[in-house]
Formats: sequence, C-alpha cells, structure tokens
Amino acid sequence: MKRPSLYFTDEHELFRQSVRQFIRSEVVPHTDEWETNRRIPAAVFRRMGELGFLGLPFAEPYGGANADFWFSVVFLEELARCGMGGFTTAVSVHEYMAINHIAKAGSEALKQKYLVPAIAGEKIAALAITEPDAGSDVAAIRTMARREGDVYIVNGAKTFISNGTYGDFVTLAVKTAPAGGPNGVSLIVVDLNSPGVSRTKLNKMGWHSSDTAEIRFDEVRVPVENLIGTEHAGFYYLMESLQLERLVAAVMAVSGADLALDWTLTYLQEREAFGKPIGKFQAIRHKIADVATEIDVARQFVYHTCWLFTQGEVVVKECSMAKLHASEMQKRVIDSCLQFFGGYGYIEEYPICRAYRDARVGTIAGGTSEIMREIIAKIVVDAVAYKPAYS
Ligand SMILES: Cc1cc2nc3c(=O)[nH]c(=O)nc-3n(C[C@H](O)[C@H](O)[C@H](O)COP(=O)(O)OP(=O)(O)OC[C@H]3O[C@@H](n4cnc5c(N)ncnc54)[C@H](O)[C@@H]3O)c2cc1C
Repeated sequence: MKRPSLYFTDEHELFRQSVRQFIRSEVVPHTDEWETNRRIPAAVFRRMGELGFLGLPFAEPYGGANADFWFSVVFLEELARCGMGGFTTAVSVHEYMAINHIAKAGSEALKQKYLVPAIAGEKIAALAITEPDAGSDVAAIRTMARREGDVYIVNGAKTFISNGTYGDFVTLAVKTAPAGGPNGVSLIVVDLNSPGVSRTKLNKMGWHSSDTAEIRFDEVRVPVENLIGTEHAGFYYLMESLQLERLVAAVMAVSGADLALDWTLTYLQEREAFGKPIGKFQAIRHKIADVATEIDVARQFVYHTCWLFTQGEVVVKECSMAKLHASEMQKRVIDSCLQFFGGYGYIEEYPICRAYRDARVGTIAGGTSEIMREIIAKIVVDAVAYKPAYS
C-alpha cells in the first residue's frame, strides 16, 4: 500500500513513473555502450529535451516547466536509478549546475542564446570552476578574463570538467580583477568551439559514460554580453548555487544507495550457500538492516533540507551536511552491498561493481567531505552567517 508523503503528491508520483519508464527503456539498455565509449550520445539530451526533462525548474517562456522543486527531486532520484553515475552526472551538471546561473542572473540575450537550446537538449552545458592548481580554494582560481573593448580575452586552464569534452558551452569562473580574491571572480559563458579553446579528455576510475575534460583557454575572445549578472560577483553566485549543487548530489547519493540495496536484496534470494539462500544468514540480514536504516535516515534529512530549500531559506549548513552524510553513506552502503555478491561483486558484468567505482568520487566532486566539514564547522563553531547572493 502506498504510504502518505509530506512532500510528494499524486502528480509527482505520476511524473516519477514517466521518468522511470524513460530510464528503463531508453537509458539502461545502452549502459554498456555508453560506458565503453565514455560518451553519452547528444541525441539522448535532445530526447530528454523533447520530454521536458531538462527544463523542470526553469520559466516557461524559455521552454521550461516552471515545476516545483519536488519534480526535480523525483527526476534526480529516478535518474540515479539508471545505475550509471556518469549519465546521472552529465545530465545533472547540465541542468542543475551549468545553466541555472544563466537562468538566475543572465541577460535576456544570454537566455535566448544558451538557456533555450540547453532546455531543448540541443546544446550541452558544462560548469568550469576547478583548475589544475585550485579546486577547493575557489577564490584562488587564476583563469583570467581581461577586458578589451567589447570582448574579454580569456587565458588559463580548467580541469575535471564534466561535459567538457563534447559539451557546446561552458559557464566559466574567471578572474576579472586579479587582486580581488573572491571579489575578483566573474562568471561568463564561453562557446567551447571558440578559437583558442582546446580540450583533453581525462581517463577516470569511474563515471565512465560522463566525459571529463581539461580545458585550456588561449587568448579566447568572448563578447562582454556573455557576462552573467554583475562583474566581480561570480564567487558569491557560485557559493549560493553550490547549495543546490550539493542538494542535488545528496538526493542522487541516497537514490544510488537505494538502488544498490535493491540489487542486493534480489541477489540474496537467488544465491545459495550451505543449502539455503544467503539472505537467510543472520549475519547478512543484520547488515542489510543497518544498510536500510542508513539509507532511510539519510533520505529523511535530505528531504527535510529540500523542504527548507523550497521555503527560500539559506540552507548552507543543511546542504553541506546532506552532501557530506549522503555521499559518505553511499560509499559505505555500496561497499557493504558489494560484499554480499562475493566474487561476482568484483566482476564488471555486475552493476554493483560499477556502482562501487562510481560512488568513490561522491565525497570529492562538488566539494570534498573535508570542505563540507569546514563549512559546517564555520557555521556551528564560529556562528558565520551566509546571505543570499542573487537578488
Ligand atoms: C569526476 C569529476 C568530475 C568533476 N566535475 C567538475 C565540474 O564539472 N566542474 C568543476 O568545476 N569541477 C569538477 N570537479 C572538480 C571537483 O569539484 C574537485 O576535484 C574538488 O572540489 C576538489 O578539488 P581538488 O581536486 O583540486 O582537490 P584539492 O582542493 O587540491 O584538495 C586536495 C585534498 O585536500 C583537502 N583539503 C583542501 N582544503 C582543505 C581544508 N581547508 N581543510 C581540510 N582539507 C582540505 C581536500 O578535501 C582533498 O582531500 C570534478 C571532479 C571529478 C573527480
């Protein structure tokens, strides 16, 4: 029997069924191909655009659905149930990390040029903050955008950029005032086919279907109109959007852990040892009870944080806690689940093997666990207060 929910209506659940159907029929069957090719075909983004999946939070005039945040939660949960961290990353970076800056603070011209085709799935977007010498310390980025008349001239390098190899454009964090520290950062949109942009695909431990690039910018000319919002306000835009980014990561981590538990429950019934299904052994049953408890407890905190987010609250502390807890939990849970597959858990044909590799990066990308603890400690110990950056 369906249980009541504080958060999801029948409409959300109907939407869940349509996303689940899409994932089952148009994503999961291609897992091996996309993981092997280390690439998601552009046609899949177009298909998701047609289905309206890429514009859930955005305004209708740009092709969006203007749907409440719980539709996004449903979408992200179902996305993660494809069991392919790379696909989940490629789509979530595009929709919830790269283009939301344009939607929030971009000019009308930028929205028409980049947001509209991104929502339609005709252009694929990346977000580039991390550099070879600056990851956690965002204010230390060195990629420069020097203004010359109507253009910025961009020089520098970014690394670990999801959708960076095959993407069409990037929301790029640059320094527009070299001495300004956090006050010298701006966000600009750069076409990735511009002269002077070169990209190198990186070979990763997991998230294979997601392409990840190092991108170099050598005297790249970018129109000044491609500035997002106010010059030098980029650091604060990024910090605010990281709340959403971390919440998205937390939602997907819980769902990914839940999927691993489902695979494991099936396997426990199928696999026999000492004349009975291994799911009958108390040692395993108790561990499964721990795993199920961990997932459900994490899910409720993540939902609560989502709810605070929908109320327009500044949820830096809760989003950081959600990302920290859910990504660490996902790693622990998948490790435990893999154990019950015995040797088969170590074999590539079993999805739990891929899930184990994919989960490893959850405590690194989008802000490491150490940085989450730093943020939480600043709020809890030092009583630092964060204010909204977009107005
Ligand atoms: C597969 C993948 C995809 C990614 N996708 C993107 C993307 O699309 N766009 C993008 O911009 N970035 C992306 N990243 C980058 C990711 O966000 C960074 O790797 C992450 O923020 C950490 O930065 P770093 O790798 O430079 O590590 P560093 O900042 O060099 O940190 C190294 C270690 O030191 C620790 N550390 C650093 N500072 C502190 C401190 N103050 N206190 C305690 N410990 C500290 C860190 O936690 C870490 O353990 C991706 C990374 C990966 C692996």
